Amino acid sequence: MAASIKLSTVSFSSLQPCSSIRQPLMPIKIGCTKSIVLVSQKKKQNGTQSRLQRHLKVKALDAAQPFDYESKRINEIENNSKLKIGIVGFGNFGQFLAKTIVGQGHTVLAHSRRDYSEVAQKMGVSFYMDQDDFCEEHPEVILLCSSIISTESVLRLLPTQRLKRNTLFVDVLSVKEFPRNLFLQVLPSEFDILCTHPMFGPESGKAGWSGLPLVYDKVRIGQGLRAERCQQFLNIFAKEGCRMVEMSCAEHDRHAAETQFITHTVGRMLGNLNLESTPINTKGYESLLRIVENTAGDSFDLYYGLFMYNVNATEQLERLEMAFDALKKQLVGRLHKILRTQLFDGVARGEVSEQSSSLADPQNPTSDTTIPLRTK
Ligand code: NAP
Repeated sequence: MAASIKLSTVSFSSLQPCSSIRQPLMPIKIGCTKSIVLVSQKKKQNGTQSRLQRHLKVKALDAAQPFDYESKRINEIENNSKLKIGIVGFGNFGQFLAKTIVGQGHTVLAHSRRDYSEVAQKMGVSFYMDQDDFCEEHPEVILLCSSIISTESVLRLLPTQRLKRNTLFVDVLSVKEFPRNLFLQVLPSEFDILCTHPMFGPESGKAGWSGLPLVYDKVRIGQGLRAERCQQFLNIFAKEGCRMVEMSCAEHDRHAAETQFITHTVGRMLGNLNLESTPINTKGYESLLRIVENTAGDSFDLYYGLFMYNVNATEQLERLEMAFDALKKQLVGRLHKILRTQLFDGVARGEVSEQSSSLADPQNPTSDTTIPLRTK
């Protein structure tokens, strides 16, 4: 039986005949495609040659040979795609990202205001309390994971002069125009800038990042190797199955105010109500409980940052308030209509009570919509 083997995965010397057959192997045909056929030549008694198909066994795959550069090259490519990433701000979100980044084989170091040496060690991250030491390790990428409201002071205090001149700066802040403008203003012009926002967190991304959006804006990325490095960083998210969305920082902030800020506000409002699970939860109520769960773990600093550092957030807060008022007016308006009908019908019949007359008076502070309605 002829063996057809992928040339790219098996080298000649790794093919050995079965022990029962002692004829030497000769590669007599090397396919022009990527397969090979090995057939041995056997001399017959009468001097003619017959082709004898050989049984082959694969004894080793890709055994390293002096001439086999393939595996070396693969290792080289693998190593070149690994980055040295320095995380600044090793709190909730910084640690969450670090787990996956380390899992993909990148080298991760971290610096934070508080001492996270122990946590970092368990995760395979080198922690530096001293930011000079941190920068002198020359990470290729600085990943800023500090709170929105502390970012400016964190960045201004970072000894960027100790970094390599071609460092890539990335942020993950939940607002985007603010860090973009800050980076452009503070960082030396040789540094590359990539603004990102993973639209998920330790709660919503705990089961994996597949299908979750990663918004990014290549604010200032050089050519050649710099562009490749930026892509390698983005590939961390792409490899996890994130939905990669390239978008300007301004557009991100418009959408984020309408979606994320509203979600956090509603989640926090509901959180204040201390909602509890009941034996008769509807699907809708379960969704509300999930919103509370998804937002409750985030710090107030984060929520405040979403409001303070996104110019569109105030408008959304006002819209939310107006929508609530309009809904209340609609409800109470209908109630008043029914009450008025009862009141004036009652007056006509001489039946109006003290209670219902106070209810109809909007100035009266004792007005209470819990007064039971009289049925006709
Ligand atoms: P956070 O409260 O927004 O930020 C905590 C981080 O900020 C910690 O690393 C903390 O350092 C640092 N920090 C706070 N005040 C500081 C100060 N005055 N000086 C120096 N460092 C200070 O919570 P987070 O959830 O970890 O978020 C971090 C960043 O990720 C934020 O920019 C947020 O917008 C973004 N993000 C978060 C999520 C999420 O779901 N949580 C999702 C996407 C993006 P220490 O711990 O050392 O004090």
